[in-house]
Amino acid sequence: MSSTSKLDPISQAIRIQTERTQQREHSTPLYLTSSFIFEEAEAMRAAFADETDDNIYSRFSNPNVDEFIDKMCALEGAEDGFATSTGMSAIFGAFFALLKQGDHIISCSSVFGSTYTLVTKYLPRYGITCTLVPAGDEAAWEAAVQPNTKMIYLETPTNPQLEVLDLEWSNKFAKKHNLILSVDNCFATPLLQKPIEYGADLVIHSATKWIDGQGRVLGGIIVGRKDLIKEIYLFCRNTGPAMSPFNAWVLSKSLETLDVRMQRHCENALKIAETLQKHPNVSWVKYPFLEGHPQYAIAKKQMKLGGGVFCMEIKGGLEAGRKFLDALEMLSVTANLGDTRSIASHPASTTHSRLTDAERLSVGITPGLIRISAGLEKAEDIIADITQALEKSAG
Ligand SMILES: *Cc1c(COP(=O)(O)O)cnc(C)c1O
Repeated sequence: MSSTSKLDPISQAIRIQTERTQQREHSTPLYLTSSFIFEEAEAMRAAFADETDDNIYSRFSNPNVDEFIDKMCALEGAEDGFATSTGMSAIFGAFFALLKQGDHIISCSSVFGSTYTLVTKYLPRYGITCTLVPAGDEAAWEAAVQPNTKMIYLETPTNPQLEVLDLEWSNKFAKKHNLILSVDNCFATPLLQKPIEYGADLVIHSATKWIDGQGRVLGGIIVGRKDLIKEIYLFCRNTGPAMSPFNAWVLSKSLETLDVRMQRHCENALKIAETLQKHPNVSWVKYPFLEGHPQYAIAKKQMKLGGGVFCMEIKGGLEAGRKFLDALEMLSVTANLGDTRSIASHPASTTHSRLTDAERLSVGITPGLIRISAGLEKAEDIIADITQALEKSAG
């Protein structure tokens, strides 16, 4: 097989391929097999002793999964990686492989809902504590450091508030206190932002979102420093959150189009956000590449484009939010993002409906907050649907 290492990462994401079989297939075949055969006991002994990198069992490794990992490492500029069944199992694996009883971590306070539950409810059960700190409050980050702090955990941009955290500052802070810097890069993808170039030790993804890009499969991946990935690999190999070969095959194909897809998603998101900003029924629009975004300068410094998601506050609060979802004709109302199809969600009446108004506000969910994941339809069609729904839902 010809070497791909001299190619641009975008070309590598297209050209990296597991070795061809005797069938000389152009497209990588699907290796649906639980285990791999050894002709001799000695070869199996050597594989188990880590003396060779032969595949043994698909909970440990599989050619389709390896191809996906290699492409992600090329895109993120990472030494090594491990792929998991979902984004949450990647985050869980990174925490439990690297932390132990008595350790402490610091996380940005605006994080994905299940990550929030993991760090506030489940980590403490195992004696691992977490301090949540607001983005950008440098004094609060400093004050949160304890002698037992091991890791900082960032999401940028955050879901759903779209806060942007400064990767350059975060890395200086992590190095100063000798902490592992982990970044959830799901919203940006490596095409828009490469945390490892800023010094991050680990980068985590939900591959379910932009990486799949077509709402088909769940997946997750952790890439980064070889020594840390080794620990994560050993933990995951023994606890079992492996990515399925089929999902890896789908996701590896998806990476071949990630660059062109993200260009269009971001172009659409910016165009729609700019248009809706001027709509009389919209109080505000938040998007990393709109000048009014509180961390606009940081977003411009560390991101190539603003991403595919924006959020807006519509006038009329909770009731208007509900009516808005019902009035949409083209956009999908569904609990996902990063699809070819544009998606709208209203956290206050759905994902966060069990919280009180005050609790919702404390995590940044205002009553009329609508999150839009810009799809690949023509921007004009997306704008037309949102505009007609706004007119029907105005309070
Ligand atoms: C969706 C999401 C996750 C969790 O990923 P799953 O694949 O659903 O487990 C983690 N982080 C962010 C930012 C997400 O949007």
